[in-house]
Amino acid sequence: MKLVDSHCHLDDKQFDPDREEVIARAREAGVERMLAIGTGGGPPDLEAAMRLARQHDFIYATIGVHPHDAAKATPETFAAMEALATDAKVLAIGEIGLDYHYDFSPRDAQRDVFVAQLKLAGRAGKPIVIHTREAWADTLLLLRAHWSGGGIIHCFSGGPAEARQALDLGFHLSFGGVLTFPKAEALREAACLAPEDRLLVETDAPYLAPVPKRGKRNEPAFVVETARRLAAVRGVAPEHIAEVTTANFERLLLNCNFQ
Ligand SMILES: [Zn+2]
Ligand SMILES: [Zn+2]
Repeated sequence: MKLVDSHCHLDDKQFDPDREEVIARAREAGVERMLAIGTGGGPPDLEAAMRLARQHDFIYATIGVHPHDAAKATPETFAAMEALATDAKVLAIGEIGLDYHYDFSPRDAQRDVFVAQLKLAGRAGKPIVIHTREAWADTLLLLRAHWSGGGIIHCFSGGPAEARQALDLGFHLSFGGVLTFPKAEALREAACLAPEDRLLVETDAPYLAPVPKRGKRNEPAFVVETARRLAAVRGVAPEHIAEVTTANFERLLLNCNFQ
């Protein structure tokens, strides 16, 4: 199987002791490419993923301000992002969105910073990677008002109704380890109804490891487990899921021109 991990935090300090081994294990498992998410510790550092993308041709990067860090964003942050967004290894703006579960930044700051980044992504002609937690209605509202390009709902964890809303807006759904959790029946229903050309798989490593690694530190090699489960849910061969998710990644992120 040749897979892409569409969302991993390779810069995370949990990988400091053995980052290169983690990357090598992913490649051995068939994970040929990885999209490293660049939100890191938040502004002023925007290059957490770019540093890794510069070291490996098969690692790509995003830049963005996570909703957790919205309160740290300044006009300088957006100016720096605007300049970095033209880098060929920066495939998307993300992860951006709203997180009303933790509320690490005030909600009005989260919304302002989300909208500013939607506008920036539109100007740069780059797709977006959405993080949304307990904020589905507001996320949809802002996307409908300020976004008309392509993108990914990362770690999609809604049910069939939310899947249809995201698909109607043109989004890809990226499935992570949660798909393998015993209680995720509604999510598996959503994974069943999504059209094949909107599917992606991810780890969100080091978080949310799939069964049977649940509870351990997650790493990109484990995306194989999620791809296998997605295949089983849809009644197709794992190799088929690998093929379509890779093609979707290439179409949306490598050959993107939605403008
Ligand atoms: Zn996230
Ligand atoms: Zn993430």
